[in-house]
Amino acid sequence: VNIALKLDRRTLASAQLFADAQRVIPGGVNSTARATWSGWEPYPIFVASGHGAHVVDVDGNDYVDYLLGLGPMILGHRPAKVTRAVVRQIEEVGTVFALPAAAEAELARKIVAAVPSVEMVRLSNTGTEAVLYATRLARAFTGRRRIVRFEGMYHGFSDAVYWSKHPDLASAGPDEQPVPVAQGPGLPKGVEDNLLILPWNDVEALREAIRVHGHEIAAVLTEPMMCNTGCILPRPGYLEAMRELTAAAGILLIFDEVITGFRLGLAGAQGVFGITPDLSVFAKGLGGGFPVAAVGGRRDVMALVSDGTVSLAGTYTANGIAVAAANATLDELAVPGAYDRLYETSDRLRHGLAEIFARSGLPAHVVGLGPVFQVWFADGPIHSYRDAERRADQAMFRRWWLGMIERGVLFHPGAYENLFVSFAHTKADIDVTLAIAAEVVARLR
Ligand code: PLP
Repeated sequence: VNIALKLDRRTLASAQLFADAQRVIPGGVNSTARATWSGWEPYPIFVASGHGAHVVDVDGNDYVDYLLGLGPMILGHRPAKVTRAVVRQIEEVGTVFALPAAAEAELARKIVAAVPSVEMVRLSNTGTEAVLYATRLARAFTGRRRIVRFEGMYHGFSDAVYWSKHPDLASAGPDEQPVPVAQGPGLPKGVEDNLLILPWNDVEALREAIRVHGHEIAAVLTEPMMCNTGCILPRPGYLEAMRELTAAAGILLIFDEVITGFRLGLAGAQGVFGITPDLSVFAKGLGGGFPVAAVGGRRDVMALVSDGTVSLAGTYTANGIAVAAANATLDELAVPGAYDRLYETSDRLRHGLAEIFARSGLPAHVVGLGPVFQVWFADGPIHSYRDAERRADQAMFRRWWLGMIERGVLFHPGAYENLFVSFAHTKADIDVTLAIAAEVVARLR
């Protein structure tokens, strides 16, 4: 798959900046998801600024933005109330004290009120850290060492969970019993002994793993909706079975709601699906674009932190900017009717796209919930990572992406990422997007 972003005059400044950046920044970017090998070939566009649902690049091109920083810009870029809260914090209060502040408990109360499964909550800076905390808590609480995780998910880049996102299927074991495959060299040998890798959306595989290894399993770690292999919905009954099987075996259920939390609704995916996990991890939806994350859940598990039995630390955890941003963001999200409007906009886009693809006769379908979705170019539904690897047409996705970005609609070039709709997208943004999509899809045939 090597169809280049058109090297026309439209993005020359980005090309130049990328060439310059590569001399001093490995790969020219500061995260894998922005790298050429993640789809941004021949170079990523360089941003000049963002406003609401729009991004302008350094050449002055304006894009309707469905990348949303890969999730955090849930209120759009530069949301006024969050910006004001952060500026006020910086100018009138300060940022880091290594002392607690009243605003932290205020934020914790808001999170606890929003998510019924969360009785107590601790903050961190990133989703990666929050997942690490959650798995550590689960091991400490159960006295067991292994974590079940699922092929194709992503839970951040820490050594313990950076496995089996992109396995080479040939060396990754049989479908129902995958073996851990590191996401690359540099992970300490032996870490994977503490993992059990399973196919997602497969109740029997989970039942069997728990039957054989249940006594060593501390937690089952999952996204409630798979958002790191495109978008894959849980099969009906799957999350319910997961809840029952884990509870019966004394295994903690950890929902990684880094993407879904505060996005599918104030109570996240667990609210939408009606499942109560033991621990949850939140990040991207929480901070309105500022680095803040949270791990929370059952009081008896979180109590391990209360007396120092389990240490969750960090110089920058709950720093003033993060807490001010999250407090302001949650206030915005809690405005009555906010999510109704978000779903209205999102559904207009998802349903509009679905119609365009249906009319085209292409083997494509739009999968997601509310403001998170992806287009799969495949015959029939995709239920798991291996399904996607074997059946999704990545070259077709690339052509779709290219047609859209060249016409001013921005989302990630990877078929395994998602499109995000923000509270700032307007009906007009959606209608422009749909008109462009119709034009692009007509050319895909
Ligand atoms: N968990 C999930 C489900 C994610 O999608 C991500 C990031 O994309 C993470 C964890 C890691 O979060 P962060 O990038 O904030 O470390």
